Amino acid sequence: MLTPEQTAELKTRLVADQIRLADHAHEALAFTMDRDKDRVGRDSMDESTEEEMYSTELRLHDRETYLLTKVREQLERIEKGEIDDCEDCSEPIGFKRLMARPVTTLCFDCKTAREQEEADVAPQEA
Ligand SMILES: [Zn+2]
Repeated sequence: MLTPEQTAELKTRLVADQIRLADHAHEALAFTMDRDKDRVGRDSMDESTEEEMYSTELRLHDRETYLLTKVREQLERIEKGEIDDCEDCSEPIGFKRLMARPVTTLCFDCKTAREQEEADVAPQEA
């Protein structure tokens, strides 16, 4: 269980991350909307170049979108008083580990066990 001071410190950290990531997400959204607008009346000559640029842009933002979702989930866990509970074994994750990796929901042992399977389906946590 974290102390109220530790919880507050972690929350400050997560909120700062959320603001930073949300700024980037807005830029990505603006890019997507511009692209849709530009498509009207355009011929297909530069379609492939455009697709390539677009997918590169999306890949850059994929990780940020993923992290933003994780940060929001962590803020909910803080509200519920569950921020320090490992999702898998319910053991305390520990304040030091949470500050080093604010989006983690697993203790070190469970994270290590999951690392291989997660590597195939989702970007790695920071
Ligand atoms: Zn665990």
